[in-house]
Amino acid sequence: MKKALCPTCNRAFDPEKSQSMPFCSLRCREVDLGRWLDETNAIPADPETAAEEEQSGQEER
Ligand SMILES: [Zn+2]
Repeated sequence: MKKALCPTCNRAFDPEKSQSMPFCSLRCREVDLGRWLDETNAIPADPETAAEEEQSGQEER
């Protein structure tokens, strides 16, 4: 039996039963898409959000 790992919820699922590869369900696909769009929009609009991720190690000068 084949198993695939959903990038959104990290659960193993049967790829043959999924209609939204590589996600386990439509919902997970939408969540991932929404997240992606969110990040894209956040870069120019909200630099503080992006800065949080870079705080580990790098210091701004
Ligand atoms: Zn999922």
